Amino acid sequence: MEMNVQPIPSVPDRINEIRGLTATIVNREILPVENMLWADQRHEGVCEADRAEASSLRDGVRRKVKEAGLWAPHLPEEYGGAGFNFLELAYMKEVLAYAVGASSLFGVQAPNSGNQSILVRYGTEKQKQKWLLPLIEGEMESGFSMTEPDQAGSDPRSLKTTARRDNEDWVINGHKWFTSNGMAADFFIVMCRTEEDGADRAANSKMTQIIVPSDADGVEILRGISVWGQPSDHCEIVYDNVRVPLENQLGAVGQGHRAAQDRLGAGRIYHCMNSIGQMWRAFDLMVERCLSREVHGGLLRTKQFAQGFIADSYMDIQASRLMTIHCAEKMHDGHHPRTDISAIKVFVPNAYQRVVDRAMQVFGAAGITDDFPLAAMYQGARSLRIVDGPDEVHRILVAKTVLNHVEHEGSWDFGN
Ligand SMILES: Cc1cc2nc3c(=O)[nH]c(=O)nc-3n(C[C@H](O)[C@H](O)[C@H](O)COP(=O)(O)OP(=O)(O)OC[C@H]3O[C@@H](n4cnc5c(N)ncnc54)[C@H](O)[C@@H]3O)c2cc1C
Repeated sequence: MEMNVQPIPSVPDRINEIRGLTATIVNREILPVENMLWADQRHEGVCEADRAEASSLRDGVRRKVKEAGLWAPHLPEEYGGAGFNFLELAYMKEVLAYAVGASSLFGVQAPNSGNQSILVRYGTEKQKQKWLLPLIEGEMESGFSMTEPDQAGSDPRSLKTTARRDNEDWVINGHKWFTSNGMAADFFIVMCRTEEDGADRAANSKMTQIIVPSDADGVEILRGISVWGQPSDHCEIVYDNVRVPLENQLGAVGQGHRAAQDRLGAGRIYHCMNSIGQMWRAFDLMVERCLSREVHGGLLRTKQFAQGFIADSYMDIQASRLMTIHCAEKMHDGHHPRTDISAIKVFVPNAYQRVVDRAMQVFGAAGITDDFPLAAMYQGARSLRIVDGPDEVHRILVAKTVLNHVEHEGSWDFGN
């Protein structure tokens, strides 16, 4: 089934144009060959011919993406990107996510895309030449190394990895894990504590991001951590007296927490738009199955349990979509809607998980196979409830903000 993307009357023409162009590529170039596009990444039964075909199919899609002016939509034009603004990109993500994994064919691949945006914003000219441009050209890979096995990732102020200044170098010591893309990465952006001994450990302002080449002495990749029963490139890494020049510092000393929040704040809205695109796909698959699958003497569409799944999923998607677009519009208008960002970061991945769960149930055994994208979506939805701040942390933030507001400024204004 194709994604049905019609113009939205209330948004600027350019957004409708971007949605239309993206949907054309998703519907015509990706969905019909979706199983072949990623055939070489299956763990078993892949022959050379499959590999060659998958690679040539992906090259073909990338060509079409570039011709349509959609390549690297998150980057400014001066860096070879499409230069879309916040809202344009948010609306595009929803369409793009309908085809699972398609974003890499549009030049958007985490964590490289997040690192590119941070380098554009905080990098010196020299850093841009050395790290950003090769990253954009695909000549380099990267990772973002913040979370640590022995500290709470949900509380970045507790990070223990240190960077100590020694003449013209930073000397880094620490233990990280879940550094995605760690095996392939040529460099890591490492979140380090740069305060003096004995200073206030709770202060966000003592964090600094530092670029560390993966082949620097003392960088030891211990393992790719197995997740959901599969090998992965989310890596556990020890930084043991790793020495890099001061010029590898990204942004000002103490700006690391702020830079991470810049990355994560916008990223959370984009993650939610992705989740909505994927819910949309799961919903379409579920409805299609209800129209065609016969059980116990009738099509699934006639069974009230299945109808309930469709109705509840419809409500989950609509609610998620309206909340997220509302939040994206505020961000686009220059506000930083922290409460809304936290609210969607809880609500949307949970809704996504519910929708995919129902779709899997409707598909029966087929729902948990790799013949359909549902099982992969389910794992993604469940993981998203932990990544970029677990549910509880965001719920606490929403509640505290509301309580403080009501205590000091009056009741909450849901109209704005
Ligand atoms: C697939 C995947 C990819 C990732 N990629 C990266 C990456 O590239 N780079 C990187 O640096 N990190 C990455 N991470 C790590 C991720 O950001 C952290 O897992 C996340 O921030 C949570 O930290 P934690 O795992 O240490 O959980 P913890 O902080 O130990 O929290 C554990 C649980 O405690 C509960 N909890 C926490 N705080 C509270 C509270 N105040 N009240 C009540 N309950 C609470 C929550 O249920 C939470 O899930 C990735 C994680 C995954 C799963």
